[in-house]
Amino acid sequence: MEKITLHDKTFKPFIPYEKISAAIDAVAEKINKDFEGSEEAPVLLCVLNGSILFTAELMKRLTFNCELVSMKLSSYVGTQSTGAVRQIMGLSGSVTGKSVIIIEDIVDTGNTIVDLMNIVKAYGAKEAKVCTMLLKPEVYKKDVKLDYVGMEIPNAFIVGFGLDYDELGRNYKDIYVIDDGKEE
Ligand code: 5GP
Repeated sequence: MEKITLHDKTFKPFIPYEKISAAIDAVAEKINKDFEGSEEAPVLLCVLNGSILFTAELMKRLTFNCELVSMKLSSYVGTQSTGAVRQIMGLSGSVTGKSVIIIEDIVDTGNTIVDLMNIVKAYGAKEAKVCTMLLKPEVYKKDVKLDYVGMEIPNAFIVGFGLDYDELGRNYKDIYVIDDGKEE
C-alpha cells in the first residue's frame, strides 16, 4: 500500500481493508444475535457522510428486516474536533416508537454520540444502541454506552473508508493515518 496525499498532508497505510472487513463481520454477528426474531424492524441511523461505507458494508451482513434513516452532522474542521456538533441535515425518516441503531464511523471525544442520543430520544425512539466502526478509547470519556465497537485505535487522525480530511479521502477502501515522518 502506498502513501496518499490529501490537500497539504500525507497519510500512510494504517488498517488494510481485509482487517476492516473482518471487524465488520464480527460486529454484524453480534447485532444479528441481538436483533434476530425482533418483532418490529429496527432503524439503522447512518450518520453522514463518514458512515456511508461502514453502513453499506454492515447492512449487507444483517439478516433481519431493518429500515435505513440518515442524518448529517459535522464537528470537525480540518483535523481538529471543534467541540460543537452542527446538524446540517435532519433525520430523513421517522424514528418515533422504533428501536434505533446509530451507526457511526468513529467515536473520538463522544460529543457527536451524546448529541445523537439526545436527538433520537427527542424524536421519541423506543431505544437506541450505538454501533461504531472505530473508537479512540484514550479520548472517549462520556457515559453513553457503545454497544458495538469494530476496532479500537490510538489517538491519531485517520482517513479512508468513508473518513475525510476536508472532504478528501473518503473513497479509499483502506484506512490511513497522518504521516508524522517517523518510521514504525
Ligand atoms: P466526536 O464527536 O466523537 O469527537 O467525533 C466524531 C466525529 O468526528 C466522527 O463522526 C468523525 O466524523 C470525526 N472524526 C473523529 N476522529 C476522526 C479522525 O481521526 N479522522 C477523521 N477523518 N474524522 C474524525
